[in-house]
Amino acid sequence: MENQDFISIQEAMDKDSGEVSIRGWVYRERKSNKFVFIVLRDSSNIIQCVIKKGSVTDEIFEEASKLLMESSVKFYGEIKKDERAPTGYELFVKDMEIVQIAEPFPITKDQSPEFLLDQRHLWLRSRKMTAMLKIRHTVIGAIHEFFRSNGYYEFEAPIFQPNACEGGSTLFEVKYFQDKVYLAQTWQLYAEAGIFSLEKIYNVSPTFRSEKSKTSRHLAEFWMAEMEAAWMNLEQCSEVGKDEIKFIFEKVLKENKKDLEILGRDITKLMPMVEKEYPTITYTEALKILKEKSGMDVEWGKDLRTIEEEKLMEHFDTPVVVVDYPKEIMAFYKMEKKLRPGVDKIDAPGPVALCFDMLAPEGYGEIIGGSQRDTDIEELMKYIKKEGEDPKNYDWYLDLRRFGSVPHSGYGLGVERVVRWICGFENIKDAIPFPRTMLRKSP
Ligand code: ATP
Ligand code: MG
Repeated sequence: MENQDFISIQEAMDKDSGEVSIRGWVYRERKSNKFVFIVLRDSSNIIQCVIKKGSVTDEIFEEASKLLMESSVKFYGEIKKDERAPTGYELFVKDMEIVQIAEPFPITKDQSPEFLLDQRHLWLRSRKMTAMLKIRHTVIGAIHEFFRSNGYYEFEAPIFQPNACEGGSTLFEVKYFQDKVYLAQTWQLYAEAGIFSLEKIYNVSPTFRSEKSKTSRHLAEFWMAEMEAAWMNLEQCSEVGKDEIKFIFEKVLKENKKDLEILGRDITKLMPMVEKEYPTITYTEALKILKEKSGMDVEWGKDLRTIEEEKLMEHFDTPVVVVDYPKEIMAFYKMEKKLRPGVDKIDAPGPVALCFDMLAPEGYGEIIGGSQRDTDIEELMKYIKKEGEDPKNYDWYLDLRRFGSVPHSGYGLGVERVVRWICGFENIKDAIPFPRTMLRKSP
């Protein structure tokens, strides 16, 4: 079988009939005296293959009987439609070459999530993981396409950083020659320098936070897609976020129907993201909805916890942008909203920040966090000190307010949060090939 032209299983099925050569791995096997049934898989799909005694040499039949799950093999044969086969086609094998007979595969039915995480290097080949990886590929591709086609430049920040941005508690400290630095918690502070050169920029890159809480939506290493733009206010910025989500969902619903089906994801739950407008509400309005519709009392000034976000989102089937959180609970760089009487809706009892969170429906929680950045040096100094940081370390950042400062805004989208939501996964760990959390650093 050396000189055959191999095609993928999907291509073979698209061909509908005739002779084909395919190769892949044994997904399932079943044997009797006269037949060996192999479901073969490759990256494109699975197909049932039949090896009949008498139709191949005795030697080949003998060898085929030895094939265990995940053995690698090449088949040549005749493909035809078969309603009873798992993907509607069957390959009648005429020739076969075994590449490697696998040892007994450690992953069998009904394994615990922890066991599957221990075996992640092997579990990646499962249909579930393969479908996720394809959806993830679409999501990341869509993010690049969305920004590039809207005039954004890709811009990179260092991963080794001397400063904190999202608060000291989730920093990963790294030995850096004789000194120490931190792994990037965000690209943002550097992006704020980048916009003075390129104005509209974006990036998708690894992000590190030593999250000590064990939740189903926090990873220690995740991919964040961020954008930053000069001359942009908060409202315009949150609109970009809505458009980005819509664009991602359009792409996935076009390119990954089959994968969503493999995952058993109800597509009608995803349709509103391409069909509907997403509402924007204030934090204060969110509290009102929680009180009136969910009977939940949240004191003004407290951050929304997971449980409150979930309750709030029971009333929506699209993402919701929540704006104007209390200034006190926000990171230092988020600008205070100066309310203009008669122009702005003043529904808050205290100072609010020009920031937004986008919350996903079905309990998938926050997927985007963004803000209009503070341009007032005095204010920034005050908050940096309040966080217990030395303003000297932020001198370069404050320079950006000294040399042609302009209003600007940006946000970060958690790639795994979006992938988890699209796939309908219980836990974010399934949305990345090799998850890293407080309790998991291998394989
Ligand atoms: P949360 O309150 O859920 O911890 P955050 O407010 O810390 O989120 P931001 O700092 O605004 O999040 O980061 C922007 C986005 O990055 C979030 O909206 C989320 O989608 C994603 N993100 C943040 N932390 C994590 C994490 N530990 N694992 C995966 N994604 C994350
Ligand atoms: Mg966080």
